[in-house]
Amino acid sequence: MSTAADELAVATGEPRTMVRLIQISKAFGDVAVLDRVDLTVPAGTVTCVVGPSGSGKSTLLRCVNRLERPDSGAVLIDGQPVGLIRRGNRVIEAPPRLLARHRTAVGMVFQALNLFPHLTVLENIVEAPVAVQRASRADARARARELLQRVGLAHKERSYPRELSGGEQQRVAIARALALRPKVMLFDEPTSALDPELVGEVLSVVRDLAAGGMTMLIVTHELRFAAEVADEIVFIDRGRIVEQGPPATMLGSPREERTARFFATIQ
Ligand code: ADP
Ligand code: MG
Repeated sequence: MSTAADELAVATGEPRTMVRLIQISKAFGDVAVLDRVDLTVPAGTVTCVVGPSGSGKSTLLRCVNRLERPDSGAVLIDGQPVGLIRRGNRVIEAPPRLLARHRTAVGMVFQALNLFPHLTVLENIVEAPVAVQRASRADARARARELLQRVGLAHKERSYPRELSGGEQQRVAIARALALRPKVMLFDEPTSALDPELVGEVLSVVRDLAAGGMTMLIVTHELRFAAEVADEIVFIDRGRIVEQGPPATMLGSPREERTARFFATIQ
């Protein structure tokens, strides 16, 4: 599908920007959790976000799909603002239905296992395309089966989440997010609630997505994985981007002392 943004990218020879955060700030009470964060993720690339606990990583991801509303700044997905519309010469909050539609451009997988417990694996994946995108149930089922195949769980479509391992649940969560055909996928520590032996199967699905050209923003503590899959690693501390760069530079010779110290603590 060609968009105005595609055409502009082709015309100017610039890489197309899929995610753009412009001066995003967010405070809870008087604590500044994000402080004028700028971030650009080109289409088809993977950015890994790392940083200490409490540094604002989850809040940053949640601002991208507007689960959290930034106090100031803008989020553009493929050139389109998320959760905002123009009314005359003013920009106002999008009504809930429209926000839900904007959000379909952004798939998200959380740290906690959060499938719908009362639905089967297949129904978990079929739900959103039918409810939000008005897909026919038959089409949504066919697509869900394709996605289950892709994450290696075709044989589990009739199971309930409680019957699956944590790694299987996360793979279903990835399939569920992909069902809406998002332009970008966000992952918030997708493996940190898993037993160590289950981490690999989830990372391997993410790796396949990267190889397929999916644009992704991934919060992770798995440095080796980040080094392998990321085009760019972003180190965030106390709500600010301290440093960012390609994995070799970030892990091999970071510019900032704080970055080096952080990597030393988690390796
Ligand atoms: P990280 O994901 O890097 O661990 P978070 O984005 O979850 O960090 O949180 C950053 C800071 O914001 C923390 O101090 C956290 O306690 C605070 N915070 C996050 N969400 C809320 C909220 N809804 N209300 C109040 N404080 C919050
Ligand atoms: Mg977090």
